[in-house]
Amino acid sequence: MLNNDCIFCKIIKGEIPSSKVYEDDKMLVFKDIEPKAKVHLLAIGKDHFKLISEADEGRAELLKYILLKIPKIAEANGLANGYRLVINQGEDAGQTVFHLHVHILGGEKLPW
Ligand code: AMP
Ligand code: ZN
Repeated sequence: MLNNDCIFCKIIKGEIPSSKVYEDDKMLVFKDIEPKAKVHLLAIGKDHFKLISEADEGRAELLKYILLKIPKIAEANGLANGYRLVINQGEDAGQTVFHLHVHILGGEKLPW
C-alpha cells in the first residue's frame, strides 16, 4: 500500500521526479537528492511503512528481496570496491522520510 502524503510514495507513483537507477514491480532505487557520499542511492520497497518493527511476514519478504537485489545494483553503479548500507530508524537516528529506505553509500573511502 502506498501513502498519498509520502514523498517516496509520490516518487514511486511518478508524481515527483527522481533519478532512478533500478525499478521492478517490488522496489525502486534512485539517487539521493543530497548525496552524503560520491555515490548515494536509496532503495525502497513499493509498500509504505516506516520501521522494521512494522514488518509482518510479507514486508520481511520485501526487505529480503531488496537486500538480495542490492549487490548487483551497487556493482552496476560503481560500488564494486565496497559500500555501506544504512537504515535510519526513528527520531534519534534522524529519520526524515517515514518510508523505510536503505541508504547505499560509497564510490569513495567513507570517512566514518
Ligand atoms: P533519512 O534521514 O534516513 O530519512 O533519509 C532521507 C533521505 O532522503 C535523505 O538523505 C534525503 O536527502 C533524501 N531525499 C529526500 N527527498 C528526496 C527526493 N525527493 N529525492 C531523492 N532523495 C530525497
Ligand atoms: Zn511511502
